Amino acid sequence: MRVGISEPEESVLRLAQEFESGSAAELIDWVFETYGSNAAICTSFQAEGMVILDMAGRLASDIRVFTIDTGRMPTETYDLIDRVRDRYNISIEVNFPDQSRLEAMTVRHGVNAFYRGLNLRLLCCEVRKVEPLNRALAGLDLWVTGLRRTQVGTRAGTPKIELDKAHGSILKVNPLADWSEQKVWDYIKANDVPYNKLYDQGYTSIGCAPCTRPTQPGEDARAGRWWWESSDVPKECGMHYAPSSVPSHDGAGSSA
Ligand code: SF4
Repeated sequence: MRVGISEPEESVLRLAQEFESGSAAELIDWVFETYGSNAAICTSFQAEGMVILDMAGRLASDIRVFTIDTGRMPTETYDLIDRVRDRYNISIEVNFPDQSRLEAMTVRHGVNAFYRGLNLRLLCCEVRKVEPLNRALAGLDLWVTGLRRTQVGTRAGTPKIELDKAHGSILKVNPLADWSEQKVWDYIKANDVPYNKLYDQGYTSIGCAPCTRPTQPGEDARAGRWWWESSDVPKECGMHYAPSSVPSHDGAGSSA
């Protein structure tokens, strides 16, 4: 069953219910069987993304995969991208920030402005991540993500299939929504899936280098992201959950 963007929300809900008890591999198979090159996997090459790439790579080598290169990623992530190309023989579409916006932001606010306040952090995420993502999604009918419900509180209600109203009401598919962190790593080990070496140094979630650090035992998996911010600020950049969900009281700096 193919659901188009003109379909009512109920159709998407029904589809999500149908796949809720199915496996991630079945869902990924359905995505590319049904939508072909109008669907793409979005990945930052974290553990969840690697599971999805591995499953999809077993289906075909012509699946569409894209990533956002913020320009501030760790060397270990770039190394992994090259390993993924070799291992799965797939091409990876790389989307960069808009150069003029990036230059304007950097000239006005400096290179590491994100440390100076939430608004400047969100501005940087908007320029380096959200806008390139919007460009990458234009023209697609469906994107696949590695979101899991237990990653962080903001993701607790993540369905396996949803209507992505923030991106033109295309479909957003989250095949690992009901997976635990343990299940992700069990899959990686059992299938010898390549993974980011930073995980071996205590990282449990990996984003841009200056905004990510290892976590301590007992901390949330995303506690190492934007660690200097108040704990009541959602650990989100705006790609999956809008910055408007972020409390406004932090308030330092201008986002203009
Ligand atoms: Fe900028 Fe940090 Fe967001 Fe990366 S994670 S886009 S460096 S604020």
